[in-house]
Amino acid sequence: MRGLEPLPEPAIQEILAHVPPTAEALPLALDRLNRTLGSLPRVAIEAVAQHFGRPVSEVLGIASFYALWHVGEKPPPAVCLCGDGPCYAQGAAEVRRALEEKGIAVRRTSCIGYCAAGPVAYFEGRLYRHLTPQSVRDVLQATPQPPTVAQDILGIEVPEQEHALLRNVGRISPDSLEDALAAGAYRALHRALTQMTPEAVVEEVVRSGLQGRGGAAFPCGLKMRFTAAARAEGRLPCVVCNADESEPGTFKDRVLIEGDPHQLLEGIALAGYAIGAKEGYIYIRGEYVPQAEILEQAIREAESAGYLGTNILGTEFSFHIHVHRGAGAYICGEETALLESLEGKRGEPRLRPPYPTTYGLSGRPTLVNNVETLCNLPGIVAHGAEWYRRVGTEACPGTKLYPISGHVRRKGLLEAPLGEWTLRRLIEGPAGGLRGSAPFKACHLGGAAGAIVGPEFLDVPLDFASCARAGAMLGAGDVVILDEQTCMVDYARAVAAFFRAESCGKCTPCRVGTERQLQLLNELCSGQGAPEHLEELRVWGEHMTDSSFCGLGQTAATAVLSALRLFESEFEAHAHGTCPAGVCKM
Ligand code: SF4
Repeated sequence: MRGLEPLPEPAIQEILAHVPPTAEALPLALDRLNRTLGSLPRVAIEAVAQHFGRPVSEVLGIASFYALWHVGEKPPPAVCLCGDGPCYAQGAAEVRRALEEKGIAVRRTSCIGYCAAGPVAYFEGRLYRHLTPQSVRDVLQATPQPPTVAQDILGIEVPEQEHALLRNVGRISPDSLEDALAAGAYRALHRALTQMTPEAVVEEVVRSGLQGRGGAAFPCGLKMRFTAAARAEGRLPCVVCNADESEPGTFKDRVLIEGDPHQLLEGIALAGYAIGAKEGYIYIRGEYVPQAEILEQAIREAESAGYLGTNILGTEFSFHIHVHRGAGAYICGEETALLESLEGKRGEPRLRPPYPTTYGLSGRPTLVNNVETLCNLPGIVAHGAEWYRRVGTEACPGTKLYPISGHVRRKGLLEAPLGEWTLRRLIEGPAGGLRGSAPFKACHLGGAAGAIVGPEFLDVPLDFASCARAGAMLGAGDVVILDEQTCMVDYARAVAAFFRAESCGKCTPCRVGTERQLQLLNELCSGQGAPEHLEELRVWGEHMTDSSFCGLGQTAATAVLSALRLFESEFEAHAHGTCPAGVCKM
């Protein structure tokens, strides 16, 4: 129902007049309207439907899918506080209570990518970090200093500087192409375009052994080969950079974009040359507004200097990069959901096969790679596969970015060779030890979708193969350290709340399972649990893992099941109305 205020139809038409009525531009129209009006009232939805020639129900379906858009009248102002694992571990629940006690409305938001500075919140476009119950008044009264990218770096433990993806972060200005060129940007692209065939670039990447850094660790060179081969069937391929970094605990891609955007652009252009593409897309999460602007500015500069665009560096190779902003949906980190979203639809995963390498964006062969993965390409092409393999292990070469958060003295990003570091070394070294006298209890490894591991994991080498052998996935490499004061049932509840919020709802096991999983944990944490809750958690967990449609549902119970396995007595105590850590209010 419309409110009493007259709705600004002319403003809506004015915005739509500048958006082409093509399918993939529909999210752009919704995003601009939501930003201008503060929400998407019915009149805006109807105008969009008319502009794009689509049914109102379809536009409503798209608009209501994404968390950053609000369908209906403008909502009352509220502090958006992250409640996911790292912010939970750093005191988000206490901050929420303090805000509510002061009469400030709070809305839960999923991870916003500043996990080392938690608890974090945003309010009226400003980001607030390191919140405490005592500092919450600042949320309304102060203008916080914007963070600097150097604050996010904990250490670079790489033998040769050239191997480090973070080597220029904090040293060069991200809005200066000149700085980037002085630090070596686009030399690899020059080498590839003047001395290597596209096939030679693909084979160099295959020989390097580079594995995808988004979580799945699939060999990057093989993906390139498959996409290039599909091109032979006469369809023009493209590159999609997955910058939808939304995994709680992960903020590495943000730092790479903020600190050295040209490294990423060069990596995307190299991938495009290798597979015969003319276009690349960066799908960046909607919360990363300054980072999207950094990329757009860097693209403009690189194009006007001839490093991107038409006839790059005076060669036959032309390649254009477009930035597409997401609108708040963790599921869009899944590559087929991302492609759906990029095509202007709800970001729901597709059935695979066919894989994106043969049938991707609008049916074209598509190479989808994560930011960190693509940032490795300039080094590989400039120095060769043998050089690249000098760090890391035989099975897992190269360096890895490890975002560290939780109960340690220092939090941030560590870059180190794969397989050389362990949790123990990382905690005792760069992280400065545990925050207080309570000993190590557990680590949530590899993001919300990863397993919770105990002290037996402290000496496992941190690489994809060793972690998998030890029973957990390294994933995107993020590490949330938890000490003995942590209630593992309440932590599992925070993770379950994330999956409940982020399930796309397409398939029943995940849609219903994430809801029931959260209900059971809420009851356990509020003294309303029973011993049967534990068995029901196991049954739902196995059901979701075995029968969900995509990776989100298949891993939505991983943390809960691993916590239940490692800390069963804590769950049993909750089922009998006691929280051994004294965290849950029974
Ligand atoms: Fe959507 Fe979850 Fe099913 Fe994936 S598993 S398709 S996120 S409902």
